Amino acid sequence: MRMYDLIQKKKQGLALTDDEIKHIIVQYMEGTIPDYQMSAFLMAVCLRGMSREEVASLTFAMAHSGEVLDLSSVEGVKIDKHSTGGVGDKTTLVVVPMVAALGVKVAKMSGRGLGFTGGTVDKLESIPGYRTDISIEQFLQTVNLVGASVIGQSPHLAPADKKLYALRDVTATVDSVPLIAASIMSKKLAAGCDGIVLDVTVGSGAFMKTEKEAANLADVMVGIGERFGKKMVAVVTGMDVPLGCAVGNWLEVAEAVRTLRGDGPKDLTDTCCRLAAHMLCLAGRGGVEDCEGMARATLRDGGAFDAFIRMVEAHGGDVAYVRNTALLGEAPYRTPVLAGKSGTIAAMDTEGIGGASVLLGAGRKVKDEAVDALAGIVIHKKTGERVERGDALAVLHTSDEGALDAAKDKFAACYDIVS
Ligand code: URA
Repeated sequence: MRMYDLIQKKKQGLALTDDEIKHIIVQYMEGTIPDYQMSAFLMAVCLRGMSREEVASLTFAMAHSGEVLDLSSVEGVKIDKHSTGGVGDKTTLVVVPMVAALGVKVAKMSGRGLGFTGGTVDKLESIPGYRTDISIEQFLQTVNLVGASVIGQSPHLAPADKKLYALRDVTATVDSVPLIAASIMSKKLAAGCDGIVLDVTVGSGAFMKTEKEAANLADVMVGIGERFGKKMVAVVTGMDVPLGCAVGNWLEVAEAVRTLRGDGPKDLTDTCCRLAAHMLCLAGRGGVEDCEGMARATLRDGGAFDAFIRMVEAHGGDVAYVRNTALLGEAPYRTPVLAGKSGTIAAMDTEGIGGASVLLGAGRKVKDEAVDALAGIVIHKKTGERVERGDALAVLHTSDEGALDAAKDKFAACYDIVS
């Protein structure tokens, strides 16, 4: 099989066989298919799509590019969650400890920033000392001992996704239903849980811009999970505005900590309670409404915050920074973005806001670039709010003074203010 012919076949919109897809993943992992051919293939998938059969084959090949975890050594029901990504989406940092506080085990593998969206791994690594690259043995031990562990894409679990994810991030091949579905579901299958709650984001700050696209992505992923014997739920959540007020790695950790202490923004708190409720429900803890009540209580009684502290500690993180998030300080360069006129914010280009945070250093412009833990945006005004000329819409944070002007222009252009 020649990769050239397989790219050509996909470019013509033809369906690849299971063997052909397996060949692509195996040879890419062995290094005989180079990044430039893989990039061309990914772009062909973006433009021509894949059948459900092809997506299932791709998911299976990616999941089996490494180990598939056996979680039988972890007692109890193991429930995973995954978001399709968004701007300011720090739900994992809140939801995982919420359900762990109630005894539901979470063994979760997360990703780094992708395109204009942030990634849980970059956020966790902004906590001094937190290691997302622990061994599989330590991962399982942590889940057993503290109830939850969130690691990065291990070289052992779905390594094909790790490699493809980094390539997609810089080749404009992220926003494709088959590629997103296979990326997420390969990690979920490799992590070996019993049930999965998918948070499918929709809106200007998500990869899926319309309800119809989001429903299709949800349906494709649920179909794959069920085909491989998992209990599945997909929840579609809005991403027309950033979730919460913080965008950027450490800024988001600090906001997640406030939320875990019961003092988070309402939109973030509500979304987290809803996702946690579905995870508890999949674990057989009751109906969704009762489970939501239980989940909310963990933010009031300190259970979720304590579970987060235990997880951070188990990963080598310095919990002093979690207990007092002001300890880490702020990025050296900070500047407000002011409203150019008075009026009501009619809409926000949330993808553009994610792009501005990447310019500030919170995400990657090229593969393997380091991210600036302190870079990002604190949003003061969102869609529907009234602003007066000169009000601060947000404050930009960065360690790269030279990035400020471009990020400021990009951010200001994201607001549609009508008088
Ligand atoms: N999250 C993932 O893990 N993969 C994607 O492709 C998009 C969001």
